[in-house]
Amino acid sequence: MTGSCNSCGNCCRKINLEGHRGWLRREEDFADMLLEYPEYERFRISGKDDMGFLQFSCSWLTDEGACRDHDSRLPLCRNFPDKTLHFCGGTVPPGCGYLINEVRPFSSYLAETRKKGEKR
Ligand code: SF4
Ligand code: SF4
Repeated sequence: MTGSCNSCGNCCRKINLEGHRGWLRREEDFADMLLEYPEYERFRISGKDDMGFLQFSCSWLTDEGACRDHDSRLPLCRNFPDKTLHFCGGTVPPGCGYLINEVRPFSSYLAETRKKGEKR
């Protein structure tokens, strides 16, 4: 990963949340999550994404794109953009100052090497 945060706030506007049974799709699952993690009450359901997963915005985000309580933000906020990308359906949002460098999977190298071997 390269780059840095330019404080655009976009990662706080379109959030996907992951519960014990995977990414949240139903409002009832979010209600269950709040029983266990009341600190998630800051998140508001804003709709669903193309994949049918619930999307959230954060009520702690100011109009200027800053976090109301930066020091008390959640671990998933501190870790963004994390390798597992809790936010935004697996990629950084438009305007984000970070760039996730593509990592080529080992299986891809293996297939290529085998192909070269077959040609010899
Ligand atoms: S708590 Fe702060 S950093 Fe986390 S999503 Fe909300 S506004 Fe963004
Ligand atoms: S989207 Fe990227 S650049 Fe914008 S606030 Fe979030 S981490 Fe920073």
